[in-house]
Amino acid sequence: MRRLIVFGLVVVLSILSLAGIIDEIKKRGYIIMGTEATFPPFEFRDEKNQIVGFDIDIGKKIAEALGVKLKIEDMAFDGLIPALVTKKIDMVIAAMTITEERKKTVNFSDPYFSAGQVIVVRKDSEPLKTFDDLKGKKVAVQQGTTADLIVSEIKGVEVSRFQRFTDAFLELMNGRVDAVVLDFAPAKAYVAMYPQLTISSDILSQEEYGIAVRKEDKDLLEFINRVLRDMKKSPYDILLEKWFKQ
Ligand code: GLN
Repeated sequence: MRRLIVFGLVVVLSILSLAGIIDEIKKRGYIIMGTEATFPPFEFRDEKNQIVGFDIDIGKKIAEALGVKLKIEDMAFDGLIPALVTKKIDMVIAAMTITEERKKTVNFSDPYFSAGQVIVVRKDSEPLKTFDDLKGKKVAVQQGTTADLIVSEIKGVEVSRFQRFTDAFLELMNGRVDAVVLDFAPAKAYVAMYPQLTISSDILSQEEYGIAVRKEDKDLLEFINRVLRDMKKSPYDILLEKWFKQ
């Protein structure tokens, strides 16, 4: 009898451990994406204070494919990976660059967007064209981003780190810093919002965004990659697959 109970327990436990994060998400009825919502057009608040953007729509596609609701947690960018590792969120969709360093802690989906850093300055100030031009300057970045990493490596730059880009740009407009370094697409969006600012450099780095999940959540990683692949298929690709794949 005792043996039977022990055997039963082992069976139940092994089934439980086999049931991955996807089963857990389906049971609870929603998937939680972590993001940092001052990064238009990827994630930002609209006039109704709702978080919208390219990444949000990707999150919605993933949720829809799983048959669950999407829950969004807006937090500091450098808090996203810690929140993922401690299971407060299920995935990070935050225009996050795939880097070797981050890959030590989390797994990334296949790349879904190509990006790179640019320098933003006030129109009335000297145009800073290269990372070298930042020497001796005050530069604002978002804490924990690839811009933070790059700028912090340049000797003689005084780096101010902010959690929200809105604060970094306020600092630039008030003249307390000489430049903000960030990804090209959000830089374009901010410059459109603040006409006194301009992008003064070319795109200075090559980066690719990925969706981050916990190392052990292999099932979710595969699922997300499938959703991304399906999203990239044209109606023509779908027909080809339907009629020509044996
Ligand atoms: N792509 C940059 C990074 O991963 C910035 C992302 C962001 O600020 N949301 O560090």
